[in-house]
Amino acid sequence: MELQNSGACVGELQARLAVNNAIRNGTRLKLTSRMTWSQARAMCGIAWAVDLAICQEACGLEGSRYCVRHQYYYSGCAGCHVCSGFYEP
Ligand SMILES: [Zn+2]
Repeated sequence: MELQNSGACVGELQARLAVNNAIRNGTRLKLTSRMTWSQARAMCGIAWAVDLAICQEACGLEGSRYCVRHQYYYSGCAGCHVCSGFYEP
């Protein structure tokens, strides 16, 4: 489940259920997609987001590469999109 997609948030009850399920199952929860790099980096400063992972669009943690410099999961042969400059600031 994704808590926000294309600017629309799920209802509070659905969000609480998703968070509780993720905590109980020890799994990750997708917060949102379609963010700019600066928006994603700003989320890293949020106190409750202590275990936040930023992934390239349509890319998950498994099978992805990780850029230590940008703390960013990516895939593909072009390397980290932030390192290459191919991203939306
Ligand atoms: Zn990078």
